[in-house]
Amino acid sequence: MKKINESFTCINCKKEIPLASKTCRNHCPYCFASLHVDWDTPWDRSSTCKWIMYPTEYQLKNSDYKILFICSKCGKKHRNKRADDDEITKLPELIKSYEKYFY
Ligand SMILES: [Zn+2]
Ligand SMILES: [Zn+2]
Repeated sequence: MKKINESFTCINCKKEIPLASKTCRNHCPYCFASLHVDWDTPWDRSSTCKWIMYPTEYQLKNSDYKILFICSKCGKKHRNKRADDDEITKLPELIKSYEKYFY
């Protein structure tokens, strides 16, 4: 399992994303977009798709948010936990704004 934790520029909102403090970041803390880079398991980096994944749903379990992301190209889904500095209060609104990519 390879962990990647580097700063990058968000492909969706174009903001500069700083390093995550405790966790490996795989989605943007501002707009929650991520790249489809993993195929079967998180961090396997074996996907050849590399398209944008958007959040479409979230669940609150044991005071932890689990966010469901769907790839806007191939439809692959995967779940991920939020990072500590995600702007989680904006998530419901963002999910609504991303509906247009799927319906
Ligand atoms: Zn972003
Ligand atoms: Zn994909």
